[in-house]
Amino acid sequence: MTKTGHQLTGLGAALAAVGLIGGLYPGQNLIMIALLAFFGSSAPDWLEIPQGWQGRKRLSVIPHRTWTHWWPVWLGSTLFGLGVLTATPHPFVLAFTLGAWLHLLMDIPNPMGLPLWHPERRVSLYLWKSSEHVVPLALGSWGLGFLVLILPGALQMAGLSL
Ligand SMILES: [Zn+2]
Repeated sequence: MTKTGHQLTGLGAALAAVGLIGGLYPGQNLIMIALLAFFGSSAPDWLEIPQGWQGRKRLSVIPHRTWTHWWPVWLGSTLFGLGVLTATPHPFVLAFTLGAWLHLLMDIPNPMGLPLWHPERRVSLYLWKSSEHVVPLALGSWGLGFLVLILPGALQMAGLSL
């Protein structure tokens, strides 16, 4: 997905993070949760430390769509955020990581794909090109993020709970 696409879908990640992480860990700074989820949604690209372009090849300190796009890295971050590794949850890490997971989800349909079993060997779903379907994906992420944001309150109003 393009940088703009990741930023637009990152708004959906921010909404979802506020609903989900704010619900799991009450008393958090929800502005920080939203901002971290938003910046996490583009993190796999900027963590590569981009250095420009050489023709059509993207130059970066970490090769594009390798280590920063490898799911075990973000699984480790998720486990750390949940407190599985440290016995103390880290909601801000979770928010950032939630955004990063959305980034991976948005990248895997593209022909370039993502690393699966090895950080430098990618697989792709070959569903659409990086610049395609940005608007419906953004709208979908906003809708899903909004549902996650309001779901706990809606259930509570209906006399139900998660
Ligand atoms: Zn990416």
